[in-house]
Amino acid sequence: MKNLAVFCGSSKGINSVYIEHAEKFGEELANNDRTLIYGGAQVGCMGALADATLNSGGKVIGVIPQRLKAVEIAHDQLTELHVVNTMHERKSKMAELADGFVALPGGAGTLEEWFEVFTWSQLGVHAKPCGLLNINNFFDPLIAMLDHTIEQGFMNKDYREMIIISSDPKELLEKMDAYSPSYAVKWT
Ligand code: AMP
Repeated sequence: MKNLAVFCGSSKGINSVYIEHAEKFGEELANNDRTLIYGGAQVGCMGALADATLNSGGKVIGVIPQRLKAVEIAHDQLTELHVVNTMHERKSKMAELADGFVALPGGAGTLEEWFEVFTWSQLGVHAKPCGLLNINNFFDPLIAMLDHTIEQGFMNKDYREMIIISSDPKELLEKMDAYSPSYAVKWT
């Protein structure tokens, strides 16, 4: 996995642990010669992740919609910045460039972006790994919700098992590298 799309908050969160771990993740990407694909903003955990990757000598590609360039303050030091027309274009460009997808803690935007690519793997639209970096146990309630979804008969447990979860950046990336989808896609 050379190119990794990372979805994370445009906010910092209430605890400095979120920014610190976003920075550690960026350093890990750079040290492993992986290219970061992300939303192109300078703000919040997104900005901290991009800065840490660049400061450690890594490559960063941002994809930002024109309308958000000013609001989220497009990062002006990236290796490449794609300015697109819509949110949908942003997501499809990121998906096209990425070999795998990770969410770090974030808000509705982060969750929406990650769930889209996760549902695409359920449907067999792609066969790329989807991971969660579980900083500060942030995703525990989400994982509990997915388990509840399975218990209530709305999701096959095979799809839950496709999700790669770790609080350790190195372990997460190693597991994602080793991922091979061995499931029957939903509608075939
Ligand atoms: P948030 O987690 O809400 O702070 O948002 C993180 C990133 O997701 C920001 O760059 C948002 O602009 C972006 N975002 C929010 N909703 C969408 C969407 N529907 N499609 C693409 N990006 C989005």
